Amino acid sequence: MKSPDFEYARVKNLADVFALQKLHGESAQILAGGQSLLAVMNLRMANPQMLIDIGDLHELRGIEHTKNTVRIGALTTHHDILTSAVVQQHIPLLAQAVPHVAHLAIRNKGTIGGSLALGDPAAEYPAVALALNATLILKSAKSERRVSARDFFISLYRTAVKPDEILVAVEFPVATSDQRFVFLELSRRKGDYAIVGLAAAFTLKGKTVSDCALAYMSVDDKPVLAPLAMEAMEGETIDASSIAQAQKALDKDLNPAGDLQGNTATKKQLARVLLSRALMQAGEQHV
Ligand SMILES: Cc1cc2nc3c(=O)[nH]c(=O)nc-3n(C[C@H](O)[C@H](O)[C@H](O)COP(=O)(O)OP(=O)(O)OC[C@H]3O[C@@H](n4cnc5c(N)ncnc54)[C@H](O)[C@@H]3O)c2cc1C
Repeated sequence: MKSPDFEYARVKNLADVFALQKLHGESAQILAGGQSLLAVMNLRMANPQMLIDIGDLHELRGIEHTKNTVRIGALTTHHDILTSAVVQQHIPLLAQAVPHVAHLAIRNKGTIGGSLALGDPAAEYPAVALALNATLILKSAKSERRVSARDFFISLYRTAVKPDEILVAVEFPVATSDQRFVFLELSRRKGDYAIVGLAAAFTLKGKTVSDCALAYMSVDDKPVLAPLAMEAMEGETIDASSIAQAQKALDKDLNPAGDLQGNTATKKQLARVLLSRALMQAGEQHV
């Protein structure tokens, strides 16, 4: 199938983005890598009248390390992230997640900004952003605002980005030496979207867990934290008993709707399995 007709503009600066957004309102959409948007247009599941192609806005591409954060521009591709030494060293959870994102050809075009703005509940970056409580930076003609990942993902494919805004960058906190990170997902084939996935981050002082963050993918209409399981691990050491307690709490956190990949019971069981694997792996990590 081919997409319906649309107007197209490849902009040279952010001012042009805002001018076109003002002119076309909600019928305009930003085009980044096009790896999700063009597919849904061809399936006629989206029908924007105006595509604002931001591919020439080179200032939105790049990975910058400051003292406490790593700022990644919205147009930075999955490939850039996969091959970044800064990401490997300072955002280990993102480094673990990116090999799970799609395939080589898609990684060369698809961008982190596109993935986060789309807010697919089965995508890797939204769960990582949630686990690390990343900050998303949104710009409009008049202002810039910073939104915590915990307030950014609203519901299925709905995020905090307003029609007159563009996501310009995302900032991740730099990992500290006492933090542990595990990214795990179960999918039918490598590169497929996850049936269930988990982005886990916590501090391990000696053998004691604190600041536990567990962000699940593909179990709700957006990426979600598991607050009761997180609380169950606070102050605990990682052993069979604490894992069993956290799994019990997790049952109350998640109520996934079944989909083509698995019913509610299957997804809950997979979520429990991932929790146990993540905690065991993290307990064995040495930095
Ligand atoms: C076969 C296939 C397999 C895939 N597998 C996976 C996978 O396993 N995991 C995964 O996470 N993804 C997967 N993807 C999706 C891929 O990662 C996309 O690249 C990504 O989701 C969107 O990035 P994009 O740059 O292509 O965005 P686009 O498709 O250009 O845009 C996506 C949406 O975000 C909006 N948008 C884009 N950039 C901005 C911005 N800066 N500010 C505001 N709004 C913006 C657009 O208007 C649009 O609504 C797959 C895609 C394909 C085709």
